[in-house]
Amino acid sequence: MDSSEEHKKTLLSGNDDCCVVFCPGCNVLELSFGAMSLRISAESLYTLSSVLNHAKVRHAQLQNTAPANANVQSVSKARVH
Ligand SMILES: [Zn+2]
Repeated sequence: MDSSEEHKKTLLSGNDDCCVVFCPGCNVLELSFGAMSLRISAESLYTLSSVLNHAKVRHAQLQNTAPANANVQSVSKARVH
């Protein structure tokens, strides 16, 4: 068996600096960020995505506390916890 055939990783998103690839042979997702590489489950990917999105929204809110600029609120209604 050709192992490179088994591990035909597909780039799901990102670029050389930060990306998520999927190996159907192993049913594994791999998150690469700089020199760091993490093998994660699909569930972890969703959790990570949700946490990052929440942090992004909260950060924007903290930097933009004037009520007139609170149009990030609609995004924060998404389920987070
Ligand atoms: Zn593989």
